[in-house]
Amino acid sequence: MTNLTESLRTSLDETFDFSTVELARKQGDADTTQKFLWKLRDGQLVESVLIPASPALYGDASDRHTLCVSTQVGCAYGCTFCASGLDGFKRNLEPAEIIDQVLAVERAQGRAGERAINNLVIMGMGEPLANYDNLMASLEILNAEWGTNIGARKITISTSGLVPQIKKLAAQPRQYRLAISLHGATDAVRDRIMPINRKYPLAKLADAAEEYQQAKSGKLTLEYILIAGVNDGLDQVLPLAQLAHRLRAKVNLIPYNHVDGLEWDRPDDAIQDAFHEALISRGTLTTLRREKGHDIDAACGQLRLRTEKELAST
Ligand code: SAH
Ligand code: SF4
Repeated sequence: MTNLTESLRTSLDETFDFSTVELARKQGDADTTQKFLWKLRDGQLVESVLIPASPALYGDASDRHTLCVSTQVGCAYGCTFCASGLDGFKRNLEPAEIIDQVLAVERAQGRAGERAINNLVIMGMGEPLANYDNLMASLEILNAEWGTNIGARKITISTSGLVPQIKKLAAQPRQYRLAISLHGATDAVRDRIMPINRKYPLAKLADAAEEYQQAKSGKLTLEYILIAGVNDGLDQVLPLAQLAHRLRAKVNLIPYNHVDGLEWDRPDDAIQDAFHEALISRGTLTTLRREKGHDIDAACGQLRLRTEKELAST
């Protein structure tokens, strides 16, 4: 930019940065799940996960790249099994910090400007609907033709069940897909692992989800992580199948990813299979995802947690 003065160029060089995220650490290879740890301008860390072939769950099987992005530093909701909430909540991400995760991954892939990501899941660190305005502002740009042009139906927002915000999302015009982190089909199970359920119990959550389903034609997903001895009992199958039927939702079973320092583990494969088959035999559209990111701590918040522990011990 030689049309600018030398001193302006020097000061821009020192103070101006196009990206709000800087790569701090990366795990995984191009043909596997890759995990990116970003350092934000204030030194906070968040992560994104790039999954090469999208699970058919979130779009067409032909889609090549799904990116999972974070919306907050930490999380205030304190689900007992989750690494993201362990150190509490730090702050909301700005719209630019959400968008820059997409742009920086494309750049890191050597595909800047190519629109290499065509499927977005808002399932990284944080509760997206607790950062509603910034999330909507970022999705507007990620969705726009002049932005990254990712179709609204290729964007899935995951929530632990913030009832008023689900209703708000139902009332706005975009056809974003919604995934609900259910993880229990009775209040007894949900109360044990998800504090949010005390505020918005299942009956209220189901009503809000139904409102969403009726407002949008796209399918809802019920996320259900299988945790040994907690929510893997066959007593959960009937209420889960009934809820999925009512909401015309598919159920995505995910074996729990162990988090260092937490007491929970995934059930044996046989128990996972029995749960899966019991749902299928009730006519519920169900997938059991033995996820690809297991080897590289792909469950949300784990790379950040590990890195912060390492930094603290040096
Ligand atoms: N706060 C939102 C989105 C981020 S969490 C939500 O809760 O939906 C994304 C998903 O990962 C959620 O379904 C969450 O319950 C799940 N998850 C969290 N920790 C996990 C772990 N250790 N193993 C597997 N899934 C996990
Ligand atoms: Fe927060 Fe979601 Fe983790 Fe619960 S599962 S603590 S809502 S990020």
